[in-house]
Amino acid sequence: MRYAVEMQSDLFEMPWIDENSVLAIANTVVIDDPRQPGSGHIDLLAAGETLAVWRQKVHDPQLAGMPLAELVELRGDVRSALDAADRAVPMPEETRLRLNALAAGAPLTFAVDRAGHLQAVELTGDAAGRVARETLRTVGDPNARTRLVRRCPAPGCGMFFMPGRRDQSWCTVRCGTRARATRLRQRTLQHPDAG
Ligand SMILES: [Zn+2]
Repeated sequence: MRYAVEMQSDLFEMPWIDENSVLAIANTVVIDDPRQPGSGHIDLLAAGETLAVWRQKVHDPQLAGMPLAELVELRGDVRSALDAADRAVPMPEETRLRLNALAAGAPLTFAVDRAGHLQAVELTGDAAGRVARETLRTVGDPNARTRLVRRCPAPGCGMFFMPGRRDQSWCTVRCGTRARATRLRQRTLQHPDAG
């Protein structure tokens, strides 16, 4: 884990977690080299310390309190769906079926308030159902022109993010800077005399 050292403090802060539960559960794996399948990684749910931080940071209290085995299973499906969306391919069949089944447990209806505005009203449902429903909504249509979700290719990252711009390649400015510095370093190592 060569690059994770630079991110050590982040692992105990998890600044990327916000009210988006889909990204909160998906982004619990830090990958050495996201461009290389099978690259080394840190699983933030696997260690007691980082798991405790994660449970504290997650906004949805029901999700935060979910038993670990269920969390890991849900994460597998969410990551599989987001990964497919990032690569613009259909999600694996078993992922699709499981997310559909879970989402059925998170019904949503609409109501018009006094001011005449349409409001989405959540009926009863569990956290897994909500996460599944929001994952399906996030992944949307694989044929859509703009990808709704991407995976950050920076070394020591691999986080999923919703690009704010069409050409946004990295999850944060910091990741872009680190990736460019790494590329430069590799080029210098390969051609020590160039420049
Ligand atoms: Zn990143």
